[in-house]
Amino acid sequence: MRTRSHAIMERARALFPGGVSSPVRAFRGVGGEPFVVERGLGSRIWDVDGGEYIDYVLSWGPLVLGHAEPSVIAALDDVMRRGTSFGIPTELEVELAERVRERMPHVEMLRFVSSGTEATMSAVRVARAVTGRDVILKFDGCYHGHADSFLVRAGSGVATLGLPNSPGVPEALASLTVVAPFNDLDATEALLARHAVAAIIVEPVVGNSGFIPPDPGFHIRLRSLADTYGALLVFDEVMTGFRIAYRGAVERFGVTPDLTTLGKVIGGGVPVAAYGGKRELMEQVAPSGTVYQAGTLSGNPLAMAAGIATLDGLTQPAHDTIAARTARLVQGLREIAARRGIPFTADCAGSMWGFFFRAEPVRSFTDAKTSDVERFKRFFHAALERGVYLAPSAFEAAFMSSAHSEAEIDATLDRLDDAMRVVG
Ligand SMILES: *Cc1c(COP(=O)(O)O)cnc(C)c1O
Repeated sequence: MRTRSHAIMERARALFPGGVSSPVRAFRGVGGEPFVVERGLGSRIWDVDGGEYIDYVLSWGPLVLGHAEPSVIAALDDVMRRGTSFGIPTELEVELAERVRERMPHVEMLRFVSSGTEATMSAVRVARAVTGRDVILKFDGCYHGHADSFLVRAGSGVATLGLPNSPGVPEALASLTVVAPFNDLDATEALLARHAVAAIIVEPVVGNSGFIPPDPGFHIRLRSLADTYGALLVFDEVMTGFRIAYRGAVERFGVTPDLTTLGKVIGGGVPVAAYGGKRELMEQVAPSGTVYQAGTLSGNPLAMAAGIATLDGLTQPAHDTIAARTARLVQGLREIAARRGIPFTADCAGSMWGFFFRAEPVRSFTDAKTSDVERFKRFFHAALERGVYLAPSAFEAAFMSSAHSEAEIDATLDRLDDAMRVVG
């Protein structure tokens, strides 16, 4: 029994809306109450009552090397002793930015911020400034953080809680965001023809309405539509960055966006994100240009140190190993579901993966919503009872880290086979 967890959550509910610091953590998508975590190591986490779980959430994506990875801890420890924040340039910022640009040369110039929300919000500000247009085109079920302009048919917690939009976002602002179904190029083109769109923003592989890959050629067509209609193309790689390929979406899809947003992995579990792209676009940002954006803790040394250690640990061979293990886990799950006669579809890209209880592949958020969410909820709890922690929502992706060994993947498949038996 999770006695201490219950007691702590009771105190938390008196202090925080839903007892949490971010909505999906409250388990509303699966029912029941969250466990309270005490520590993590490698692929595992332990709750305050001693329960042990193989973790496929990994802080919602950042921990591509696993929990408390020794090189990340050593880097943090070293930097921390020299001071935690200065608000003055440090070499660490340059070091992390050079690593990003080495893998993503189209990110010629960038700016560090502290959350993915800030990154996408700022990228859109740049796009609006340089195009002189106000309208943003996004895709149904994609999540780009909680800035006002993006809380329109959004994914992640917005999808999990079944909220259409958010109160508090002025209609005048919401009306500047137009939404197409993911993978629907005709609908996208119709919107571009009707509105003067500043930017098309997209998750290159959707991870915020469950895991949804793009159709072959989708991004190539998006690129040409953006060019035809004079819109910028923004790849929101806050989740996919350094997960779907060693060099991200450009490597995977052969398409170069104008602006890219990054987060999660580049901070290795410490708050950091970035936006960047073509030099002439980024030079519009203050103080080079007039588009204002700033942050007291931006480029924070601890965050930079964790990011550097994480990218250094995530070598091409390391990435390839994690990707191969992810593919093996996904294939194993498909086989289990098929053997048990359960309608199921699963897929992965690099170290990102996901599944739905639905026979046919999922191409859009509309498809995702036809999956068997009730069965997902039972499966989630059955997995948790067997020591496997999946995202507590049918509309979130899962992740893998370099700390997940072959033996742990075997153990996961055994436990999830048994969980499938329970829900079959
Ligand atoms: C997580 C996420 C964000 C928001 O990042 P925060 O750091 O939570 O603000 C934005 N876009 C995508 C694609 C994400 O997955």
